Amino acid sequence: MGRVEKESEGKSFFEKVWTLVLHRGFIIPTAEIYGGIAGIYDFGPLGTLLAKKLVDLWRRFFVIGETNFPVYEINGSTILPYEVLVASGHVDSFVDPIVTCLKCKARMRADHLVEEALEIRVEGATVEELTRIIRENGLRCPNCGGDLSEVSLFNLMFKTEVGPLGGKTAFLRPETAQVIFIDFKKVFQVMRGKLPFGIAQIGKAYRNEISPRQGLIRLREFTQMEIEVFINPKEVNNHPGIEEVADSKFRILMRENQLKGGGAVEVTVREAVEKGIVPNAYMAYYLSKETEFFERIGIPRSKFYFRHMMPEETPFYSGGNFDLEVELSIGVKEVVGNAYRTDYDLRSHMKHSGEDLSVDVDGEKVVPEVVEPSFGVERIIYCILEHCYREDDGRGWSWFQFPPEIAPVTALILPLMKKEPLVSKAKELFKAARRSGIFVEYDDRGSIGKRYARADEIGVPVCVTVDYQTINDGTVTLRSRDTRKQVRVKAELVPKLLLDLSEGRMSLSDLEALQG
Ligand code: AMP
Repeated sequence: MGRVEKESEGKSFFEKVWTLVLHRGFIIPTAEIYGGIAGIYDFGPLGTLLAKKLVDLWRRFFVIGETNFPVYEINGSTILPYEVLVASGHVDSFVDPIVTCLKCKARMRADHLVEEALEIRVEGATVEELTRIIRENGLRCPNCGGDLSEVSLFNLMFKTEVGPLGGKTAFLRPETAQVIFIDFKKVFQVMRGKLPFGIAQIGKAYRNEISPRQGLIRLREFTQMEIEVFINPKEVNNHPGIEEVADSKFRILMRENQLKGGGAVEVTVREAVEKGIVPNAYMAYYLSKETEFFERIGIPRSKFYFRHMMPEETPFYSGGNFDLEVELSIGVKEVVGNAYRTDYDLRSHMKHSGEDLSVDVDGEKVVPEVVEPSFGVERIIYCILEHCYREDDGRGWSWFQFPPEIAPVTALILPLMKKEPLVSKAKELFKAARRSGIFVEYDDRGSIGKRYARADEIGVPVCVTVDYQTINDGTVTLRSRDTRKQVRVKAELVPKLLLDLSEGRMSLSDLEALQG
């Protein structure tokens, strides 16, 4: 039993995974040497590699891989002027209900406090209703038992000033989407746009959450990957690629099933559009694409579904919101928000800026409608960590079964012993793999068993061992992480095999089937 294993005895599943994540430095609490800061984390080396692979795969899937209509990526500023966030509605409405303990001064999300204490849903309740529920049920501070204040509203945006001494009020962006809306017309013009037209953005967003918690789930600084697809309002059911995915299936939790307490059902894209289960073909397209993507990153299909948000959870302007929710040991969590934002944002920015953001379609001025998939990188990373975490299965240590495409380290290259000519041969192989752009590591410290254990613990799919037979016949051993099966292949094939593995053209079972 390894050290981490001992540390995790008697812990919840979340604590076990989180212990390993912190222990291996996937994630480092920001300013840890100063005691940290709630809801803000750094990615350590392995977390950075994992996030980078996830983002690259997302880009390959949703941006470069989108061949039905153009999707261009932009990289906007994280500081936005006050006026932009007035127009978007964030200044007035980006608020959560807050309650303060009059004794210990702890501040809490009032809706979460009520939901956890009484096991009821209070989405959409007013501050007066929340105060009444707290009073009628005699709820007290969960930390110290103290009396609670009245519920009020707290705006989640980080406010700042641009320029010295009383400069212009601005905010750190609470979502990447608004930058896309305000840049839309320019991007459309410079790229000689034609509807449908997508703009994607990957970048930081900031929300001053009242009670950040559960590791990476509720953060104050996080990364979004968003796409706004601009569509001719008359063509929302005329998606150019819908036939490609018409028979693909996704799981959906419909509104009536939420009311009746029923579960998610599987539907095809065709059914979802024809029966009006989703508001338009673009929404159905993304729900099926996201299903494919989540399976590819190691989340089993049976563990996630799309929940049609109830009317009280949906913004007034929305034509329908569908959250991708993943089952985790800490409950079900939203990790992607899909919203039919209609033409609300563009019209609102037109009104507040005085600029015409309509586009010309066959001589007619059209304000496009928008479908938006919005992914949170850190929440997805947490889902990957939990769903790929494997308890000790007889090998003596817990490990991560990351799909090779997103595994932080693709392979470990090791000499059987720290002796020549094994060391030189292994280093040569390490350099060749790195030159091919594959992130591999070289390790000659400790017994071979310990090195395999270290590799498994951080989810390295393959260990490549150089031994004495290598010197005789030029073959090396490849050990698969998943089955611990070993095969021998020619050393010169290794960089190409690892590249195929890390780019999804080959699976670990394909690799296990190799011989000679
Ligand atoms: P929203 O705009 O609230 O629908 O958020 C879109 C996505 O951003 C969510 O599905 C999450 O994955 C992510 N997200 C939102 N708020 C947070 C947060 N406080 N911490 C981490 N991720 C978040």
